[in-house]
Amino acid sequence: MDATTAKERIEELRRQLDEYNRRYYVDNSPVVSDYEFDMLMHELESLEAAFPQFSSPDSPAARVGSDLSDSRPLTGSVREGFVQRPHRYPMLSLGNTYSIGEIEEFALRADKILQSEPFSYCCELKFDGVAICLSYKKGVLHQALTRGDGVKGDDVTANALRIASIPHRLHGDFPDELEIRGEVLMPFNAFRELNRQRELDGEQPFANPRNAASGSLKLSNPDEVAERGLICTLYHIPAQSVTFPTHSEALDKAASWGLPISENRKICRNIDQIKDYIHYWDSARRELPFATDGIVIKINELSAQRELGYTAKFPRWAVAYKFKAEQVVTRLESIDYQVGRTGAVTPVANLVPVQLGGTVVKRATLNNQDQMSLLDIHIGDYVKLEKGGEIIPKITGVDLARRGPDARLPEFPRNCPDCGTPLVREEDGARWFCPNADGCPMQIKGRIEHFISRKAMDILAGEATVAQLYEAGLVKSPADLYELNITRLTSLEGWQDRSARNFLDSLAQSRKVPFGRVLYALGIRHIGETTAKALAKRFGSIEALEAAGREELLEVRDIGEVIADSLSSWFADSAHRTEVQRLKAAGLQFSLAEGSTGRSSALEGKVIVISGNFSISREDMKTLIESHGGKNSSSVSSKTSFLLAGSKPGPEKLRKCESLGVPVIDEGQFRAMLPQQEVATAEGPAEGETAANGEETLVQLELF
Ligand code: NAD
Repeated sequence: MDATTAKERIEELRRQLDEYNRRYYVDNSPVVSDYEFDMLMHELESLEAAFPQFSSPDSPAARVGSDLSDSRPLTGSVREGFVQRPHRYPMLSLGNTYSIGEIEEFALRADKILQSEPFSYCCELKFDGVAICLSYKKGVLHQALTRGDGVKGDDVTANALRIASIPHRLHGDFPDELEIRGEVLMPFNAFRELNRQRELDGEQPFANPRNAASGSLKLSNPDEVAERGLICTLYHIPAQSVTFPTHSEALDKAASWGLPISENRKICRNIDQIKDYIHYWDSARRELPFATDGIVIKINELSAQRELGYTAKFPRWAVAYKFKAEQVVTRLESIDYQVGRTGAVTPVANLVPVQLGGTVVKRATLNNQDQMSLLDIHIGDYVKLEKGGEIIPKITGVDLARRGPDARLPEFPRNCPDCGTPLVREEDGARWFCPNADGCPMQIKGRIEHFISRKAMDILAGEATVAQLYEAGLVKSPADLYELNITRLTSLEGWQDRSARNFLDSLAQSRKVPFGRVLYALGIRHIGETTAKALAKRFGSIEALEAAGREELLEVRDIGEVIADSLSSWFADSAHRTEVQRLKAAGLQFSLAEGSTGRSSALEGKVIVISGNFSISREDMKTLIESHGGKNSSSVSSKTSFLLAGSKPGPEKLRKCESLGVPVIDEGQFRAMLPQQEVATAEGPAEGETAANGEETLVQLELF
């Protein structure tokens, strides 16, 4: 290849890889398989090595892919930007290969450089999640950073504290300061449940557990993180920070301090033992409850590691052998367009059935129109199919060489495939929607399915029952369910007295479902389970929620403009208000049960501004104020009853209080205004919370 052609190809590869990196690390929505990505990266690395005059520190071959949250708006409740903090030691990637031959070369190179120095290898699983760096000070978790760009990472401490397997406090003879790295993972069962829920909620499912773990670690609401079922496994203590002879001994010691360390590592003395380990785990990993994408081979002796050192991107003392995801090729026969309960239209590929990873695959989602265009997919094409994180079949490409003359470009429908209404495109989004929410049968059935689902009203029925009741003209909205009776049900095909009674019992039980879940069951767009609970807690009743102004809504943690708009347009629709009245008349819970919040009217009529940091989070403080009848306001004015000042209150707010004569009170004085029980329960950190946790949260709040 001549230099001009090489330069052009290098530039093209850099552009392509930068875009794939962005899709993978920032959007959590990869568009090509890891294998394809790695092949392009290896091509770029070889070209840059052959033509060093074109190498650049900016090249994706010279730096780690960055997960740093940038300023672009991200979707859902993913935080737009985390506080970024520097890593004490750079957090790098790993050199990788799909070839055993290259592992042999790695071992030969190590032999050559280390010469007579005896050394061994520590072989470990390569966990397919998102990297995390934890710092402990005096045994207390002090900071958790993502890898970021390797030099600085996003501070996700508040979220890490909600991952059950990350200890808040170490025990035993831990060092004063410890930095330890590892991976946050989403186990397969949590991943399946999350995607099932996302589909029910009309949200795009995650492509694989890695993306789900990464998206979850960057949620803005730690409560939501706690519900995602993430786990953590740790595998690296930077050699600079410990004084053990080997990596493996350092990990054993870390396990004795209570840190989650995998037991599936093995010390190997030679390449044959490494190959046995690879061979064993290539199949045994299928039994693991989480995703792994390879094996990591590390030189075990820390002195040897120091001697081998690092490149700008990886350690020279380790290498990853990656398992190639099983890929099959099959023919795309047609595409169905499914309409979800929110009206979102999802293209689903119908495939010639094919065996993949132990199951027969007939269908695979194509996500949206953009994804179809990126794949340049045609009906009749031979498509490459892989299982994302080993479980979800995913079309990763098209075998263009096999495209026949009769292959035709699919036409994304302009009208709803179910009710024929012209589709509209979501602003700035990739998805098309059917706007006929009240008349589109698929949306209506989808909403009823959502209403009865386990996390909502938990009514004993499935898709088929909903379809039958809808088609019989008996149920067109959730409220109709509560008008069913034995006679009506047993008049339907397949219903016996017993099944009808069970169903009615389950409906009766659902009258006890608490307000937060009822609110979620209503299926208001963008109101997921956690948001519904937060709204229920904050407003206490459907009337208070309906009456809440935009500003009041925006004061609730995680309620942004999108959710506030969605709520106001939902309540503006008289059909929705009538539905609520009918459900209420049927006996459903539309307010929090008495005594469930420790509510009082102690702050009735008070307009309160809070400033600074408190013994509880600012959000919890606002909720506390609301639950005692007070109103939160963000700025001091002549209407402010008092300023509740924590530590480090804003000087501007204090000055304004002084000039307007607004009283300033501290947390102790404030708590004295509340009924005794609240003072006792709300004081001090919750059990298991640490001093460092409290401190860190305060620092973050200051900066956000
Ligand atoms: P990587 O995932 O290939 O390997 C390095 C990472 O492995 C480390 O940062 C660490 O987080 C992790 N790891 C897991 N178990 C480990 C263990 N036992 N010891 C040490 N580290 C362990 O590298 P990367 O830099 O995180 O990501 C690059 C890879 O991501 C690419 O090779 C590619 O496969 C994939 N990628 C794919 C796309 C796409 O569009 N499909 C885009 C970008 C990156």
